[in-house]
Amino acid sequence: MTRAYNFNAGPAAIPLEVLQQAQEQFVDYQGAGMSIMEMSHRSKLYEEVNASAQQLLKELLQIPDGYHVLLLQGGASTQFAMLPMNLLRPGRPAAYVQTGAWANKAIKEAKVIGETVIAASTESEQYMRMPSQSEIVIPDNASYLHLTSNETIGGTQFQQFPDCGSVPLIADMSSDILSRPLDVSQFGMIYAGAQKNLGPSGVTVVIVRDELIQDAPAHIPVMFRYATHAKSSSLYNTPPSFAVYMVKLVLEWIKSKGGVAALEQYNKEKTKLIYNAIDNSGGFYKGCADAGSRSVMNITFRMGSEELEKLFVKESEQEGFVGLKGHRDVGGLRASTYNAVPLESCKALVQFMADFQQRHG
Ligand code: PMP
Repeated sequence: MTRAYNFNAGPAAIPLEVLQQAQEQFVDYQGAGMSIMEMSHRSKLYEEVNASAQQLLKELLQIPDGYHVLLLQGGASTQFAMLPMNLLRPGRPAAYVQTGAWANKAIKEAKVIGETVIAASTESEQYMRMPSQSEIVIPDNASYLHLTSNETIGGTQFQQFPDCGSVPLIADMSSDILSRPLDVSQFGMIYAGAQKNLGPSGVTVVIVRDELIQDAPAHIPVMFRYATHAKSSSLYNTPPSFAVYMVKLVLEWIKSKGGVAALEQYNKEKTKLIYNAIDNSGGFYKGCADAGSRSVMNITFRMGSEELEKLFVKESEQEGFVGLKGHRDVGGLRASTYNAVPLESCKALVQFMADFQQRHG
């Protein structure tokens, strides 16, 4: 069996051990005579999967009491709307940090729901960095401050999170959740689609402070209310059971690897190799993000011409690499190095980059 060097941005690499475990359990889950997908979501076996996925998230992220862990559907894109529906209050604007494509999508949806202000923006610098605390201006009466912890397309990442005082801090962590330790108590809410660091697409994790979901406006439909899902342990309606099961296996894998602190070291080791290859190429490869905002999850870089970039993608594919083409909105190249991307893939990429430079430099 040959596994590709998978640098996809999402859906993305899943640990081989997890895929094999799922394969073993696929047809007959724990002697039930059926797969997890064929089972009632009210069955004891599935309830255990649902509870243990939530428990593992609590454990790995050391989520304090007073937070709910919700497993929802609709992707992070649905959270762009659900968040302001539930938390934006009349006369109290929602403040957004504008850092790139994903922040902009969140802002667009918030504007549909209510008053929105930009607390900081790096648009004039083509979003090549994350703003510092001193640049972020939060109205005292803001309903919340929203930021995108890692911009998947631009390749920028917050290294530190702003202190928002009494204003709840909300983060879209779709592309870096569980890649590093986190002080969850700093946040009112965190959300993330699963398909990068947590498993397959189809389930979205929401971690939200209880007090924020208690008095949502009365007009919100039941499925769009956080309180609905909090009250029913995310079993209000039929959940994406196979995706939740896969997330549980990925979380067990993370635990077996030593948790998020160990993964942070591993991820840094992997990306250092690639950033070094870029920086030591004499300008043949050029990193896109500012040094202080470089992402440990999505490495964006360019070459002298688009022709050369196209050739890079083509030759890399012939060598077994997948996903190195930059996002269609920005072009260039991108290597996504999520938790499940092995060091060996990064070493192979660095070798390929050197060989390519030798052939075409
Ligand atoms: N936010 C970020 C930072 C993302 O990277 C993505 C997906 N690439 C999304 C939101 C949208 O996620 P989904 O496709 O799950 O709606």
